[in-house]
This record gives sequence, C-alpha cells and structure tokens, in this order.
Amino acid sequence: MSAQLIDGKAAALRLREQIAADVRDFADQFGYAPGLAVVLVGSDPASEVYVRNKVIATEEAGMHSFEFRLPVDVTEGELLNCIDRLNSDPTVHGILVQLPLPKGIDVSRVIERISPTKDVDGFTITNTGRLAAGLESLEPCTPAGVMMLIKGVRPELVGLSALVVGASNIVGKPMARLLLKERCTVTIAHSKTIDLRERCREADILVVATGVPEMISGGWIKPGATVIDVGISRISCEDGRTRLVGDVDFVGASKSAGAITPVPGGVGPMTIACLLANTLTAAKRQVQLPAAE
Ligand code: NAD
Repeated sequence: MSAQLIDGKAAALRLREQIAADVRDFADQFGYAPGLAVVLVGSDPASEVYVRNKVIATEEAGMHSFEFRLPVDVTEGELLNCIDRLNSDPTVHGILVQLPLPKGIDVSRVIERISPTKDVDGFTITNTGRLAAGLESLEPCTPAGVMMLIKGVRPELVGLSALVVGASNIVGKPMARLLLKERCTVTIAHSKTIDLRERCREADILVVATGVPEMISGGWIKPGATVIDVGISRISCEDGRTRLVGDVDFVGASKSAGAITPVPGGVGPMTIACLLANTLTAAKRQVQLPAAE
C-alpha cells in the first residue's frame, strides 16, 4: 500500500474533544448546555444502533440528550406534533428524526416541519437552499465530515478536479456543493453515468457514495488522488462469515491513491462528530436570535 491512510476515527476523536471543550465554555457562559433531541419511530435494528451511538456521543460531549421513541404505527400528525413541541422547547437546540421512517409517513413533510435553526442534519429545504446559494447553513453531517477529512490531507483544493459518485440528497448532492464552495471543478456521477471509469481517472478528489460494494476498481484511480469511500455494505465471505466493505476496492485503490479512507473507520465516525458540531453551532446561533424566533 502506498496511499496515506486517512484515519477517520482519530480525526473524529480530536473533533469530539474540541467540541466537548467548546461545550464547557458555552455552558460557563450561558449557564446551560446545548440539547439534542433524537426522534426514533419504530424499532428498526440498524436505526436503534445509530440512535444509541448518537445519544452516547451527545452525552460524552457534555450536551443534553433527549430521546423520543414513537411506535411504528404512530400517525404522521402525532409525529408532526412531537416536532412542533421540540421546535418550541428552548432546552432543545437540535432535532434529528432518524430515517428511514415507516411507510405511510411523508418524509419530506416531517423534515420540513423541523425548524431550520434546529435542523442539525441539514436536510430542510432552507438549509439545502442556503448551502446551494453559498450562504451560512447547517451542513449535512456526512458531507461536512468528508470535507474535513479531505482538508486534513489536502488543505489547498482550489482548481482541483473533484468527482462525486452518487447523487443522493443526503450525501452526493451536498458533497458536490461543499466541494464547489472550495472552488473545485465538480462532477456528479450516478447510476446512469456512461463513462464512469474515465471520469474517475480524471479526479484529483474522488468521493464515492453509492452503496454498491467495491464498484470502483483500483485501476480507475488517478495516481495521487484523494479517495473518500462513504459507502458501507455488509457482504458474505467464502468462509460463511460477513464483513463490511466500502464502494471502493480498497486494496487495489491504495496502490495508486495518494490518500484513502478505510471502511470501517473512515467517514462513519466523522458523521456523528459533525452532528455534535452542528448541535453546538445551532445552540450558539439560537442564543443570538431574538426571542420571537
Ligand atoms: P442512495 O441509495 O440514496 O443513493 C445512491 C446513489 O448512488 C444514487 O444517486 C445512485 O444513482 C448512485 N449509484 C447507484 N449505483 C451506481 C452505480 N453503479 N454507478 C454510479 N452511481 C450509482 O444512498 P446514500 O444514502 O447516498 O448512501 C450511499 C452509501 O453511503 C450507502 O452505502 C450508505 O450506507 C452510505 N452512507 C454512509 C454514511 C456514513 O456516515 N458513513 C452516511 C450516509 C450514507
């Protein structure tokens, strides 16, 4: 392996320590700690794990954690009422509704109900639009974490060619906007892109978020490129066990990349750290808002 390994665990730990210190300063100044409310509907096992990890991380950072568990058959109206209460609760500075939601609930209506000032996932149209317009926003956590990892190994990004593979609203599209903000020349690829291999070979920065295991071959990587693998899938091995892999052939790509994230231990830990950072940012901005807001 010639590529530098981008250690997301270590970067996330440093960020979380910094946030914990900032939370202490905030609490000293204002007399209370920021609060994050997580809403979980139903009992999807993966969502349970994500929520538990978020709650632990929030408490470790010295913030208040509020958990709301609603039954799988909750009505959309009841869920919206829950969000309304959290929007007007002054001890709650960030609100996160764990996705996916059960069938029959309109996800966009639920997300849009969250006050943009408390939208720590950065998914509301207001925050999405502000990011697109290059204005101050709460940025989606995974792309924000990816950006920090990229800057950790490549502080100067102006003019570089960046390819984002995957065009989802929560990862691919905001990722492309953040890279554009850094004045990269950005391309977004998706499942209908025809010449993906050629596009990859031109990319100084390659961010892949498709959920298709190891779809990017080592031979597609431009020598020296920074490769960020957001994807995470569990695959079966020949011995009957399973293992986690990303969207990139890690071993092959490591031979030509300049720097690369592992899976697991790359992007994942940064996502939670950025959620904490967004909660603190939201709390700071709310302090400065007039009471009416
Ligand atoms: P998604 O399913 O919403 O979007 C996938 C995107 O990939 C789509 O735009 C699709 O067009 C594109 N795509 C699919 N197959 C493709 C192909 N063969 N070639 C090119 N593009 C293709 O997924 P998502 O929510 O953006 O998540 C993507 C992956 O990232 C998943 O593995 C998910 O688990 C992971 N993820 C990780 C974190 C983290 O914190 N580590 C956070 C979010 C998502």
